[in-house]
Amino acid sequence: MEQIVYTHSPAVRAFLAKEIGMLVNGRLIAAESGKRFETCDPADGKRLTTVPQAAASDIDLAAKAAHAAFHGEWGSMLPATRGNLLWRLADLVEQNADQLAELESIDNGKPAAFARAVDVQWAIDHLRYFAGWPTKIDGENLPVSQPDMHVYTRKQPVGVVGAIIPWNFPLLMCVWKLAPALAAGCTVVVKPAEQTPLTALRLGELVIEAGFPAGVVNICTGFGEEAGAALVGHPLIDKIAFTGSTAVGREIARRAADDIKHVSLELGGKSPNIVLPDADISRAAAGAAQAIFYETGQVCSAGSRLLVHRSILEPMIEALKAEVAKINPGRGTNAATTMGPLVSKEQHDRVKKYVEIGRNQGAEIVCGGRPIDGDLASGFFFEPTILLNVPDDATVCQEEIFGPVLVVQVYDDLDELIRRANASEYGLAAGVWTRDLSNAHKLAAALDAGSVWVNCYNSFDPSTPFGGFKKSGYGRDGGRAALDKFMHTKSVWMNLA
Ligand code: ADP
Ligand code: MG
Repeated sequence: MEQIVYTHSPAVRAFLAKEIGMLVNGRLIAAESGKRFETCDPADGKRLTTVPQAAASDIDLAAKAAHAAFHGEWGSMLPATRGNLLWRLADLVEQNADQLAELESIDNGKPAAFARAVDVQWAIDHLRYFAGWPTKIDGENLPVSQPDMHVYTRKQPVGVVGAIIPWNFPLLMCVWKLAPALAAGCTVVVKPAEQTPLTALRLGELVIEAGFPAGVVNICTGFGEEAGAALVGHPLIDKIAFTGSTAVGREIARRAADDIKHVSLELGGKSPNIVLPDADISRAAAGAAQAIFYETGQVCSAGSRLLVHRSILEPMIEALKAEVAKINPGRGTNAATTMGPLVSKEQHDRVKKYVEIGRNQGAEIVCGGRPIDGDLASGFFFEPTILLNVPDDATVCQEEIFGPVLVVQVYDDLDELIRRANASEYGLAAGVWTRDLSNAHKLAAALDAGSVWVNCYNSFDPSTPFGGFKKSGYGRDGGRAALDKFMHTKSVWMNLA
């Protein structure tokens, strides 16, 4: 019975059955060493398949191919042709959307329906948005106060980009780096997360099918300390675009400083989600639950601290408990599932440890707090968890847990609220639930956050920049801001005298 319900689709079975290659210089190849590593399904911990394990020598091949492509056909390709290729890739992702969503679901654990509607759909939308940019990258004429001088700027690609990708939105984060980099005219070497290599490798096949010249896109699977570190240290890489943990981001920036490589970092968060006393409580509770439990809490912008006005604490907690009761944990390929497992045993242990620390620091467990057993015991499942009455300086209020754990804090007035909401080393995002316009705008201005969502949470669009303040990083994904980080500005001075 189990087997019938959870059998992979024919398209996914066929992909898993073959010896999957990584994309280097226009071809799908094995690692030079021949080494491969396993990726598993977090819903049961079982091996799905193996993928090439790139080491420094493979990264070297990929970086050289990307460098040659940048100085070859790609570098002189007309903007409209570059845009057409991105559009063609979007079409291919769309044609293979169900397969990609299922691969994302079995590799990462997330519900396949969410992967189709969010990860894959947003990847398509992102590619199409950036497909429009190559024909719109322009410079300026500058009104210098000097006679007979004509001065203008040109935007030029920074060169070869190393993109290092996390495991929470494997395909989408890959496209968030790839699309603007290619639109800007860069070439790219991608290093997917070792926990979730499958959709990036499938994307590599689609890159070939789309007809990109060899070397423009390279996708090398491997481990962070091996392939990732080799990419950061490679002399032909001009820029590192990274999404991941603050600890690794700091190391990357430090290492990249040796070569003065460009770096953009999208790092962790501990984002405040704020409920003002006049908020629509049922909307706010639904939004708050979504903000922390979507993707099992493994979202850098998750609303992991809920700051609730004292006057509405009780109804908010009741409404939150009602939201939690609606959550249906399970295997991502089961259509009824609304919350998948955590991505790995390591992540599961980490979440368990944090809840234990919270308990020891005096947290009241409103609900959850334990791994899920029974049918799901062999996977990395954890109960949706709400902690109350934790001091602001407690570990669970300060550190990113990256799991389905919400900390509820109570506040009394607006100044206190702003001070406490900003009392975090992170500054990625914030939410505000209110019907009061002036408070909404006051908070939007005062919060240390790269994105502020009012009466919504985790809204994204390809047009809209996303990134951090403080230790949440620098540089932006999305929109023109993302494009800019892959381009130099050159000033040209023409003496007409
Ligand atoms: P997490 O701790 O959530 O797994 P990481 O920041 O470790 O997140 O991983 C994000 C990405 O960074 C992954 O692709 C990982 O392989 C890569 N990575 C990890 N360590 C390094 C490193 N020292 N140098 C370069 N990349 C790394
Ligand atoms: Mg996996």
